[in-house]
Amino acid sequence: MTENSFTDRIKTFDENYKRILEQISASAEKSGRRCEDIKLLAATKTVPAEIINHAIDSGISCVGENRVQEFMDKYESLNRENTDFHFIGRLQTNKVKYIIGKISTVESLDSIKLAKEISRISERENVVTEVLVEVNIGSEENKGGIIPEKLFDFIDEARLFPSIHVNGLMAIPPVSEDSGKLSAYFNRMKQYYIDIEAKKLDNVNMNVLSMGMSDDFQIAIEHGSNMIRLGSALFGRRN
Ligand SMILES: *Cc1c(COP(=O)(O)O)cnc(C)c1O
Repeated sequence: MTENSFTDRIKTFDENYKRILEQISASAEKSGRRCEDIKLLAATKTVPAEIINHAIDSGISCVGENRVQEFMDKYESLNRENTDFHFIGRLQTNKVKYIIGKISTVESLDSIKLAKEISRISERENVVTEVLVEVNIGSEENKGGIIPEKLFDFIDEARLFPSIHVNGLMAIPPVSEDSGKLSAYFNRMKQYYIDIEAKKLDNVNMNVLSMGMSDDFQIAIEHGSNMIRLGSALFGRRN
């Protein structure tokens, strides 16, 4: 990065971050909550470590990466002391071993095979890894996640692995300009979240409902999200 582009990117982040905190507060209030009730995860794919560290120094406490290789390349350069790292992208079972112990949470659990491997490596590393079950809420082809019809059975099976803990749900709804449609998807997610919690299953707690990205986070919060994952809204458009 040139000195100039670094300064520009810092400035972009600072302006965006301030505005986003206000937007989070406004949306949280609409759903009877406060800004602090909503966790802001910075989705940092393509963002250089120096910029991520600036975000961390500015108050970002949760960082999400999509790709194992990119995460490993940046990891040693990041301010890790007070930062909670999540993995949010599609995860191949053969790469699980590289991230366990470094991340607290895999948000993109979408198969039993993956649950088994996360648990196996976590046990070996003497940690318990939090997982969110990714729900393919629009039942879209070629998209990761468990379709709603299979969600309860999936959780009932995944929860049996001893070194993972099912801590909530994550979703990326179908792209839509229609806020009514988006609201309907988010509402359905919220209802699954409530219904699953009500079952009081061992090793399952619905603490995190991760939904909402740069284009729809305010709607997501208004419909019950307590974790939003923002990339471009914070750091500017990706190349
Ligand atoms: C990239 C990404 C985000 C953030 O996307 P933006 O639209 O840039 O906010 C959130 N969640 C996941 C899983 C992502 O891959």
